[in-house]
Amino acid sequence: KQNGRHGYTLFNHALRCNQADQLALEAELRHALSNGGELVPYYQAIVDSHSGRLAGFETLVRWHHPELGMIAPGVFLPMAEESGLILKLDRYMIERACAQLAQWYADGTITHEVCLHINLSSAHFHDTKLVDWMLRLIQQHQLPPGTLHLEVTESALIDVPDVAIEVMRQLKTHGICLALDDFGTGYSALSYLHRYHFDVLKIDQAFVREVHCQEESIAIVRAIVALAEALGMDVVAEGVETEVQVRALRELGCPRLQGYYFARPAPAAELDWLRLAGM
Ligand code: C2E
Ligand code: CA
Ligand code: CA
Ligand code: CA
Repeated sequence: KQNGRHGYTLFNHALRCNQADQLALEAELRHALSNGGELVPYYQAIVDSHSGRLAGFETLVRWHHPELGMIAPGVFLPMAEESGLILKLDRYMIERACAQLAQWYADGTITHEVCLHINLSSAHFHDTKLVDWMLRLIQQHQLPPGTLHLEVTESALIDVPDVAIEVMRQLKTHGICLALDDFGTGYSALSYLHRYHFDVLKIDQAFVREVHCQEESIAIVRAIVALAEALGMDVVAEGVETEVQVRALRELGCPRLQGYYFARPAPAAELDWLRLAGM
């Protein structure tokens, strides 16, 4: 069932599409969350575009289902969102990632400060206990709060309740960073940037794909980099796959890069540290 080391099972509508199957999957995810083990954090490097140095990691969830093999987040996250299990899932991922980062520091695997990017569903915006929980976790692992970057997608910011704004404000007050994911693809209103004080913009792969050859993409990336610079934000270009894209993004002054060209997401044990050290 495993189609290659990082491949996903052909898990599609033909396999499990009806409501009963969805409910079964939900029960299985609930089970996986209380047992641990099946849900595995994968890590993908984020690289400094000038020095080529490792700048951080993004944590991406994978579900190693005992029968179905590896299931991609795109398949089970909608169900996790709908059922509310996403709250538990994200917290589980944050805990694992923080523990992992602390261990890498402790055993000398990482010697300079790198940031840890974690995807956070907008469901947490209603969770007023999130901030205290995160602060305790950071303290427990003795991580500088600035290493944590919470990624929220642009589309999550439509019609956000006041409590969400308060949660984000508090996170920022305590030094935790916010990154705006998939920038440019959602219902982009520039007022978001100002209102929530994002630290990082992540340029969606849609604009990166043709950044070496298509004038519109070049103009958009150039504009995003200039905007971010003016507002004091960092920029990560996502989905960088080829050398020509790397060159184009460097020329446009994009400070950070992430994508298969540098490293594919991998579980902690399979990270290629020799290569990462050279980054
Ligand atoms: P995202 O946050 O935009 O993550 C980037 C996606 O692009 C990831 O897909 C990553 O594996 C993939 N990717 C990275 N580099 C390249 C590249 O060079 N080329 C191409 N074609 N793809 C690349 P993935 O891991 O399947 O995750 C899909 C989405 O699921 C993520 O999109 C994120 O929104 C969500 N997600 C993943 N893990 C979590 C999690 O723990 N919690 C939450 N709430 N959402 C998560
Ligand atoms: Ca992300
Ligand atoms: Ca993204
Ligand atoms: Ca995305």
